[in-house]
Amino acid sequence: MKKNTISIHWFRQDLRLSDNPALNASAKNGTVIPIYILDTKNTTERPVGGAGRVWLHHSLKSLNDSLNGSLRCFKGDPLEILERLIAEEKPQSLTWNRLYDASSIARDSNIKTRLSKTGLTVLSFGGSLLWEPWETLKADGTPYKVFTPFYRRGCLHASPPRSPEPPTSIKFVQNDSNGETHIDGLNLLTNKYWEKLVINDWRVGEIGAKERLNEFVKNEIADYKEGRNFPVKANVSRLSPYLHWGEVSPNTVWYAAKQKIQFNPHLEKDIGHFLSELGWREFSNSLLYHFPGLPKTNLQSKFDSFPWTTDESLLRAWQTGQTGYPIVDAGMRQLWQTGYMHNRLRMIVGSFLVKNLLLHWHHGESWFWDCLFDADLANNSAGWQWIAGCGADAAPYFRIFNPITQGKRFDPDGVFVRRFIPELENLPNSFLFTPWEASTKLLDKCKVKLGETYPKPIVDLKVSRERALEAFSSLKSAIT
Ligand SMILES: Cc1cc2nc3c(=O)[nH]c(=O)nc-3n(C[C@H](O)[C@H](O)[C@H](O)COP(=O)(O)OP(=O)(O)OC[C@H]3O[C@@H](n4cnc5c(N)ncnc54)[C@H](O)[C@@H]3O)c2cc1C
Repeated sequence: MKKNTISIHWFRQDLRLSDNPALNASAKNGTVIPIYILDTKNTTERPVGGAGRVWLHHSLKSLNDSLNGSLRCFKGDPLEILERLIAEEKPQSLTWNRLYDASSIARDSNIKTRLSKTGLTVLSFGGSLLWEPWETLKADGTPYKVFTPFYRRGCLHASPPRSPEPPTSIKFVQNDSNGETHIDGLNLLTNKYWEKLVINDWRVGEIGAKERLNEFVKNEIADYKEGRNFPVKANVSRLSPYLHWGEVSPNTVWYAAKQKIQFNPHLEKDIGHFLSELGWREFSNSLLYHFPGLPKTNLQSKFDSFPWTTDESLLRAWQTGQTGYPIVDAGMRQLWQTGYMHNRLRMIVGSFLVKNLLLHWHHGESWFWDCLFDADLANNSAGWQWIAGCGADAAPYFRIFNPITQGKRFDPDGVFVRRFIPELENLPNSFLFTPWEASTKLLDKCKVKLGETYPKPIVDLKVSRERALEAFSSLKSAIT
């Protein structure tokens, strides 16, 4: 490309200025027109969920501020929009960072082919993953289906991830409409009350991502290995929405953590464990890329005949945190009230849905998709397939999380449960996870009326566990 030319950078899930390979490539060759397109044509299968739209709205505002108002936003069919913009602005090139789901790949390949034919240079880059999914294959060229060899051999034995690119000065073309963009015109916000309630906990955008990363690496990563299991401990990064929306690159996170080991070798186990969780993110994306049906199709086809039940009232009780099992309800209410759920809780509530309630994992996947700020096609689908036992390297089906023992073990002082279930706050710890076992006298004293102020358990744990195991063994006998 020639110097002093115009280039368009199409922001997608890379809503940041630093360590953005495609944006930097655009900038190397002249001034950049930064654009965002809300694709309403190619994502009918999986439009951004409710919480995701709220995050996106605030993230675009923040990005636009960093760009001094030069972000141009569009809504509709990306190919048509790009063709129009190219005809008006006559850029020499178009850049973007890659996405890895089937529908984005098909759309992007089509756009690349169509626009390249007009003489435009169209360049795509890897900006969302540490390793490209085609770089982490087994020796025989097939994708890994088990995490440990994927991470150890596929990732750690490959070339190290790219180092973050140093900041460069980028010249952006000012937006014709005097810095006014159409972010509001994308109509991403719909439920004003809920949105205000949940977004207040977060500083959305690139600056917020940097602050979160710095705080985590400085003060919270020590004891990650053990502390990450306890929902009230501040040992998890809460970087997932920032990583999903690309407000920070995984490379920046990876090397920030690595650098900490250099000066604190005693933290190697904790930091190594944290890096391996980034490895799970790579694994999920590799699965999505190589098995594009992941969001809908059981990776283990024997689960296709699994005898799921349907029960709207049980599903509603689970969604609204009214199952009568305090640790499950606290997790579901955390999701609703904060747009986030701690990983330990995701496993507990997931297991409860698919095993104790015997409801299809699709229900859980789609509720999470709508409620999580970090809702991510790869991580969410892989997470649900893992918990349901039908995924790659999944938790064995017979591993059924017991919500009573999980609660007692990972929230021993009941701080998490009391935070999200204030109606149980006066119950002593000994009955906090099993309120139905408390005497009427104690319940009265603690102002708990089971079935009125807090629900009775919607299923019996023992009976539902046996029913789940029976359903699983019927599946085994069906295939043998
Ligand atoms: C049923 C289920 C659904 C899930 N849905 C999502 C989802 O939609 N989006 C999402 O980002 N994660 C999802 N996860 C994975 C995990 O729960 C979250 O990434 C994690 O809780 C985010 O919190 P954190 O940033 O504090 O994590 P940390 O423990 O600080 O981990 C750092 C980063 O590593 C990645 N990571 C951590 N654990 C996993 C994992 N098990 N799989 C893939 N990546 C991981 C995330 O990007 C995370 O931000 C799901 C897990 C389950 C069991």
